[in-house]
Amino acid sequence: MDARGGMLLPGLHDHHIHLLALAAAHGSVVCGPPVVHGREELAAALRRAAATTPSGGWIRGVAYHDSVAGALTRTDLDTMVTDVPVRVQHRSGALWMLNSAAAAAVGLDDADLPAGLPADIPAGGLPGVGRGSDGRIDGRLFRLDGWLRERLPPAPAPDLAAVGRRLATFGVTGVTDATAGTGPEEVELLAAAVTRGELPQRLTLTGGPALVAPEHPRIRPGPVKIVIDEGAPVEFDALVAQVCAAWMAGRPVAVHCVTRAALVLTLAVLDAADDEPGAGHPGDRVEHGAVIPPDLVDQLVERELTVVTQPHFITERGEQYLHEVDSEDLPWLYRCAGLRRAGVAVAAGTDAPFGDPDPWRSMRAAVTRRTAAGNLIGPAEVVDAATALALYLGDAVRPGGPPRRVVPGAPADLCLLAEPGRTALRMLSAELVALTIAAGHVIADNR
Ligand SMILES: [Zn+2]
Repeated sequence: MDARGGMLLPGLHDHHIHLLALAAAHGSVVCGPPVVHGREELAAALRRAAATTPSGGWIRGVAYHDSVAGALTRTDLDTMVTDVPVRVQHRSGALWMLNSAAAAAVGLDDADLPAGLPADIPAGGLPGVGRGSDGRIDGRLFRLDGWLRERLPPAPAPDLAAVGRRLATFGVTGVTDATAGTGPEEVELLAAAVTRGELPQRLTLTGGPALVAPEHPRIRPGPVKIVIDEGAPVEFDALVAQVCAAWMAGRPVAVHCVTRAALVLTLAVLDAADDEPGAGHPGDRVEHGAVIPPDLVDQLVERELTVVTQPHFITERGEQYLHEVDSEDLPWLYRCAGLRRAGVAVAAGTDAPFGDPDPWRSMRAAVTRRTAAGNLIGPAEVVDAATALALYLGDAVRPGGPPRRVVPGAPADLCLLAEPGRTALRMLSAELVALTIAAGHVIADNR
């Protein structure tokens, strides 16, 4: 094959993605920035979707953020669409908001569900429903995905083939699905897609300690995902037990940490788990590491924790961070260079569908650290292009370790670029990807 001088890379590995949610997002209405900015735009987007929704169908909105129209209740949604059931997911993934048609369809008003939402919705809270001042359920369902799913009409099978094709065009030959709730049903869907070749990428699965990864040369179990839910009461001993169970099962942990407090808690939990038999596992990870203040870095180094970050959130969400995040935390958001200088292993994942699935955008954000409006956040965390690229070249087992290389004996997972190295590094763009090869087979040909 004549590569015409183009740079040949090992295939990219997205170290944190949610495949089924990404597949579901394909048929969904984006309800937040950078696509939708205000109440009017949201109403317009939902009305457009309503006009094309077949009878009996639902509108599924995703990526909502409070900057669009505040805490969204059924009263708000009813001013936008009344005749079609609408459910909108908050971009945190922790909250669904229903209009009255949707509430009626799932029997929400007759449901015996606990209350107790905190005021700060994005930060999380107890599973339950929101209530208005009149005591009526206001359409907000917090961490009730299981309850909701049982009452929804059967969803069309998620189109994982479309996801596989899209990731292939980016040069992605491997992914780590970092979904905490991956159970037998989800494993079956994913494994079937891999077996049928619809998902041509290598797949590393998180999920609980009991997860059984199917026997397949392209599927392996990854770390146990543990979610520290801000706003919910801390069940310290339960968290310690979860960590110990993972280690005993021979698996590292991947702890979801998006605030300073969550990171402090995570470190305390790991400390406590250290006293139990079977303690410690190479490959333990902090997912997101959204805020990592300098005084906690030493502990990350000591524990050899890998941080799997999302540099592109600086671009995608940076303008909101500038308004919402404590100014003392701003320099420590989604860090990269500073952590590496201190000796912390850093890798990246897109967190799609919560972030854009294009890893090249993520790399560019790691280099620029600019918000969509061009503001710089955390200049000391800027990395060079080769380092940004390497965030997606680590092995699935050692995400922040040395980049995989194109050498004899390595799997034929390759990404051929249309330009030589110097130009490619200057551009860091998905448009460069000419050919993607997974396990020796061409899975995308963009030439
Ligand atoms: Zn995630």
